[in-house]
This record gives sequence, C-alpha cells and structure tokens, in this order.
Amino acid sequence: MENTLNEKIKIGISACMYGAKVRYNSKGFDILGYLKREKNDFLWTPVCPEVMSGLSVPRSSIRLVGGNGFDFWERSAQVKNRSGKNVSGMIRAGSMSCFETLKRVDVDAYIFMEGSPSCGINRTTLRKESLGKPPGVFGALLLKEQMFLIPALDLQSPLKWWDWKRRLVAFTWFKRKELNTFSEFFECWDILKILCQEIDEESSKGVEESIEFFSDKTNPKEFEKIQIEILDILRTPSNPIKIKKWLWENYNSLKKIHSIEVDKVREPEYLRGVTHVANEMLQVELEARKVKKCFKSSPIDYAPGR
Ligand code: SF4
Repeated sequence: MENTLNEKIKIGISACMYGAKVRYNSKGFDILGYLKREKNDFLWTPVCPEVMSGLSVPRSSIRLVGGNGFDFWERSAQVKNRSGKNVSGMIRAGSMSCFETLKRVDVDAYIFMEGSPSCGINRTTLRKESLGKPPGVFGALLLKEQMFLIPALDLQSPLKWWDWKRRLVAFTWFKRKELNTFSEFFECWDILKILCQEIDEESSKGVEESIEFFSDKTNPKEFEKIQIEILDILRTPSNPIKIKKWLWENYNSLKKIHSIEVDKVREPEYLRGVTHVANEMLQVELEARKVKKCFKSSPIDYAPGR
C-alpha cells in the first residue's frame, strides 16, 4: 500500500494566531511565521468566533459563568462581558457560524489559541485571571466533533511541531482511506502501528487484541470502530523521551536493512537539545524518503502537489 499523502491538508486556525488583530485588545500574532516556507504546504481557514458573534475590536474580555464550554451548549452556563452583560446569544451564533465554516471546508485539524474562553481547550485563563472553566465555548464544539487539535504555541518548538505534523499527516491519510476489506485495513495498521506504539503502548495493545478477535472480517463496520480508536491514538502528543527512543530503534533498523546512514544520530541517552533531535528526525525522514523506504517514526510521506 502507498504510504504517501499528496493532497494538501486543510487546517482551521484561530484568526488571532494567523496574524489578524482581532483579540479583545486589538492584538494578533503570526504564529505561522515559525513554519517559514512549510506554511505553503497547507490550506488555511482562519476564523474568530468572537468577531463573528458581532463583538467589536477592541472589546471588553468575556468570561464563562456557571460552568465550562460543554455546559454552555447544554444551556447551564453563560458568557458575560466585563460589565456583566449576558452575550451568550451572540457567542452561540458566532461560534456556530465559524464551526459551520470549518465543516463546509471539511478541515482536517484546528490550531487553537489556548487560554481563550472561546477557543481554549485545556485552559481559559488570561494573564493568570480565570475566565471560567475549560474548555471554552468554541473549544467544546471542536472537542465534540473529535477534531485533531493543535495548540498554537507548540508551533514555536521544532520538535513539538515535528511531532504534531507527523501525527497529523498519519491521521489525515488514515481518515481519508476508504476501507473496504480487512486486508486494506490491516495494511494501514501495519504502516501505523510502530508510531501508535510509541504514542500509547497500552491502547495499541488493545487495538492489536481487537484485530485478533474480529468477529466478522467481511464487515467494514468492524474496521470503522477500530479505525476510530487508532485515530484517537494519533491525536495524542508523544514526548522527547519516547521520540528519542524510537528514533534510535527505527533509524537502526533502516541502517541495518536498507543501509541508510545519517550523520550524528545519537543514542537516546546522549544529552542534546530538542532542536537537535528535530534535525536528526528530519534528516532520517529525508534519507529514507529519497530511497522510498518507510521511517516508522514518521510513516506517511507528505508530498503535497507531487
Ligand atoms: S482566541 Fe479565538 S475568539 Fe479569541 S481572538 Fe483569537 S480567534 Fe478570536
């Protein structure tokens, strides 16, 4: 099976992180500047739920009152501005409008601004001031949709971005696959399983067991359930310790089997910065792809437009 993704990945992004000065204080930040030319490999859809709500720029900051973003959609929490005005109706309309835009585009992922009572996922605090309980209102919609969610500030770290990108590419490739037969499903798992084991060994073992005990190998509905479990694993970040360990193993297997050699790939215990590790990863990825071999830490070759 071809382990290449040629179509561009579509990503929604909090507009204030795309450089639009739409925050409550008229500020914005071009986080994509960190990606340099790589930014052109993706199709971007910036949205701002607060501006789409009809709240102006600048505006007084808003907060969730009485619960988190999920409670808001259940109508047991509200959104108020600094003067106590209830702006729930506006925020509901603006969030739905942005959400529908992302659905219309059929985005594969969303890059969110952490800390916002709208776009935040794990935190809704502004300069240490709590603006309610996480997730934010828009964040809750994205979580319900099981969107692939990337915190904007992780684009500043070369290793974190490398980790997000390889998983996003694998996620999108697998999500877009039409799985009609058990052997198609199994070939995909075979390509992704080492990466999944690195991310979450326990859940990957569960996937292996479910595959072993498939009750009906002719029923695509059976694969769909497990496909969702695998996509869930791919949404989860790895960490530098696991990344270094598996880089070393996967690189050595490429070296042994396919004679692929890269200068200065170090054993996991060797102390070096995360930027150095990211460079090692990129080098191995490049050399493996030149000779069309699969680097199991980053199993899908992203070649948009090729
Ligand atoms: S965090 Fe979200 S709602 Fe707030 S300014 Fe940025 S895009 Fe708009």
